[in-house]
Amino acid sequence: MGGESLPTSDDWDVRGKRVLVRVDFNTPVADVDGELVITDDFRIRSAVPLFTDLLARGASVVACTHFGRPKGRVDERFRVEPIRRRLNELCPGVELLENLRFNPGEEANDPEFGASLVDGVDFYINEAFGASHRAHASIMVPPTLVASAAGPNLRREVAYLLDLLDEPARPFVAIVGGAKVADKLGIVKVLAARADVVLVGGGMAYTFEATQGRTIGSSLFDESFLAECAALLEGGKVHIPVDTRGLADGAPFGSGGGTDPVVDFGANVPEGFEGFDIGPRSIEAFTEVIATAKTILWNGPMGVFEDPRFALGTEAIARAVAASPALSVIGGGDSVAALQQFGLEGEVSFVSTGGGASLELVEFGDLPGLRALREGIRV
Ligand code: AMP
Repeated sequence: MGGESLPTSDDWDVRGKRVLVRVDFNTPVADVDGELVITDDFRIRSAVPLFTDLLARGASVVACTHFGRPKGRVDERFRVEPIRRRLNELCPGVELLENLRFNPGEEANDPEFGASLVDGVDFYINEAFGASHRAHASIMVPPTLVASAAGPNLRREVAYLLDLLDEPARPFVAIVGGAKVADKLGIVKVLAARADVVLVGGGMAYTFEATQGRTIGSSLFDESFLAECAALLEGGKVHIPVDTRGLADGAPFGSGGGTDPVVDFGANVPEGFEGFDIGPRSIEAFTEVIATAKTILWNGPMGVFEDPRFALGTEAIARAVAASPALSVIGGGDSVAALQQFGLEGEVSFVSTGGGASLELVEFGDLPGLRALREGIRV
């Protein structure tokens, strides 16, 4: 079940019709001289080809998005005005509704709020992959009321991720990092069943290391997952770092940086210290495995890469992935941010924009928003 099973809008006769497009324009903004401006318009630019096509076919187009977390009420900081301005520059003639999350009905998947969105609308297109793992009204309700389709970017994201899991060229090497083992254990389990090797790094690796009798000092740790981590390691496919680097407890770290010298711990983090990156031997071992891959899926950094002292592991992995001729798919906001930080985003096969959505699609093979489209009304 790749992107092919999702309905498309290619054959619709939209002349003189009104089309509602759900997009994910949840973009970063910054205050410049008292005015909020978009700092990265990638998501808006990606939707322009669809809008242009619909307009050329004679449709009137209205887009809708969530923006930030205004928690179901009007919050001036989250008005879509800066997004609307940029959209009008890039593609004049497309309307943009006010922030969907100003209405509590959006996140509550309220049928009435959902119905209000398609009042006077003839067709609905979901082009918001990054929001399709959420059963929210703008995602779930329109397909039950008007003819609906998946947008081209949504289809491409789904097809890439599902095809990769279906019949990957082998060896298939998955790389999973990030802070919490609780967030990522599900995906490690799924990948351990499908991939040939799963390289685990980042804060989540220390719970795995603790099962091997290694000391982890005050590194991130979640006791409730010890047994599952131990079982995964027994399967033999999950590889964990053999050494780690970090700081003494209390030393400042993170995007604000710090000046304390980095400590190379080897395999064990002593009491009074904390691990923030994989060490040099792990970098070597991981990059050797990555060099053998024909398919790569990477989600999550190997350390606190926002702090240059702990970016070495993530940078080495990013460079190894970029140098590989394998089909490489990168998912998740932090891995994408890391690729950008090292100027490598053009060097991989596919960058998936939806962090949570790509994880859930890989873990469960489907998303609520995709089900809604498949079960919804067709022309
Ligand atoms: P996630 O959102 O789960 O992908 O986690 C990304 C975050 O994990 C980044 O902001 C990293 O700074 C953080 N992270 C990675 N490794 C560690 C670590 N060893 N200790 C604390 N935080 C980490």
